[in-house]
Amino acid sequence: MSRLQYSFRVNVPQKTAVLDDLMSGREYLETLRDDRAVYLYGERIQDVTVHPAFRNSARSIARLYDALHNPRSRDVMTTVDRFGIRTHRFFAPSYSAAELLAARDAIAAWARLTYGFMGRTPDYKAAFMATLGANPEFYSPFEENARRWYRLFASKALYLNHVLINPPVDRMKPVHEIADVFLHVVRETDAGAIVSGAKMLATGSALTNATFVAQNSATTLQQGEAEDFALVFIAPMDTPGTKLLCRPSYEQSARSPFEHPLSSRFDENDAVLIFDEALIPWENFLVYRNVERANSFFPESGFFNRYNLQGGTRLAVKLDLMTGLLARGLAINGTDGFRGVQAALGDVIAWRTLMWAMTTALAADPQPGPGGSVLPRLEYAAAMRIFATSAWPVVKNIMENVLGGAPLVTASGPEDLQSPDLRPLIDRYYRGTNTSAEERIKLFKLIWDAIGTEFAGRHELYERNYAGNHEQIRVDTVNFAKRSGVMDECLKLVEECLADYDLDGWRNDTWL
Ligand SMILES: Cc1cc2nc3c(=O)[nH]c(=O)nc-3n(C[C@H](O)[C@H](O)[C@H](O)COP(=O)(O)OP(=O)(O)OC[C@H]3O[C@@H](n4cnc5c(N)ncnc54)[C@H](O)[C@@H]3O)c2cc1C
Repeated sequence: MSRLQYSFRVNVPQKTAVLDDLMSGREYLETLRDDRAVYLYGERIQDVTVHPAFRNSARSIARLYDALHNPRSRDVMTTVDRFGIRTHRFFAPSYSAAELLAARDAIAAWARLTYGFMGRTPDYKAAFMATLGANPEFYSPFEENARRWYRLFASKALYLNHVLINPPVDRMKPVHEIADVFLHVVRETDAGAIVSGAKMLATGSALTNATFVAQNSATTLQQGEAEDFALVFIAPMDTPGTKLLCRPSYEQSARSPFEHPLSSRFDENDAVLIFDEALIPWENFLVYRNVERANSFFPESGFFNRYNLQGGTRLAVKLDLMTGLLARGLAINGTDGFRGVQAALGDVIAWRTLMWAMTTALAADPQPGPGGSVLPRLEYAAAMRIFATSAWPVVKNIMENVLGGAPLVTASGPEDLQSPDLRPLIDRYYRGTNTSAEERIKLFKLIWDAIGTEFAGRHELYERNYAGNHEQIRVDTVNFAKRSGVMDECLKLVEECLADYDLDGWRNDTWL
């Protein structure tokens, strides 16, 4: 039996007492030592917690769990939900703007522990899982599954990855014609459904407890054709028949913290997740062969509204780091007094402030959600989704313009600074403005890991794509505006303006 299901059975929440069962960092690491099939460079990894491709990223996640218990951060990060479960504030549904704001602050407090450089910390999928607590009925006839998964998820603060996207092949065909690759039901048993197929890209998955499988708005399944593909389910990472095929590891290729301070501890490996005749027990389904529900899950479950609050807050923290890095880099280069360079820094500050302001609006001006809960406003979430993808390329571009070649004036590695022959030369020729060579090199290697290494390149691709392709995120915004009445309001204003005048001049006596 899966470790997840076992631990749930021994920890049934009591009605009267608070269930205080959040994982510690050590307990989290222990959950990763199971039969998960993770493959990297042709080998199956025995234990991700000690493998050089994963061990420090795993510890970065463990540090988040420890912060839930630390007396200095526990109250900012956790709350007791309406079921009597102590959990991370974003792992529970919010019932007021004040609760959503507190959840935003808890997200930010976690994000600061990774400087915003881990996009898929456990609170990302809490954007969805918390909605199961407020709206289990949406998943009828599987509402009991929704309730049970909410309780398990919230009480442990489980770490889930998610896979919504089908592999990039035959995009010109409907989904149900690509059964050789895309995930679908193969057959049913008493215990559950057997599924086969692949999904991309399971970010962070090797270090998670379970995967969440569904689809986003880029594909529309066809009624009467795509029932076998119309699935939403959760599968523990040790599900027999599943395999994770990782991309190259930036953590493993990082030479030292001094050279790769981000890659060496925040690399969330993106993997292709393959289901090969895997049994998914009925208890783990939320949607089964229901095309309408599978198509509507993404905009209607509340996930869309909430993930943009999490993603936007995490990005705001990351932009805080970038703003500080740029300001220090400019000072060290001695260019910070120049007007053009100051204007560039002003742009970066405005982007970080825009992100913070939008997260405040998402939390403080919510819309009604199911069961008396509140959700971040859909229009704001759709706008955040677009501006977030634009922010990173702009900031990176500015940094490359105004820092020039400085991020590469850093010597090859710590060995150069430790060499008695080279050190006097480095101390003299690599010094910064009012800064030692060692301090200067240390800063610019951090900047390079944020904007220039392979880890940084993947981060740019992540920020630009993770929320959907660059066209879909805009097309969705149009559709939401039509549905919510925002588009009607805009068109009404045009009508009013047009009605002010005609061929004969003004149509009222305000103007002469
Ligand atoms: C670093 C990284 C991490 C990621 N992590 C995750 C994750 O954890 N979970 C997850 O589910 N996904 C993840 N993704 C995938 C991500 O969600 C997708 O890359 C994104 O949604 C874009 O989809 P796509 O790659 O299939 O591109 P496409 O949808 O193929 O888009 C590429 C271009 O092709 C066009 N196009 C494609 N199909 C059509 C069509 N039928 N008609 C017209 N135009 C079309 C698009 O409009 C766009 O211009 C990750 C991606 C990255 C880069």
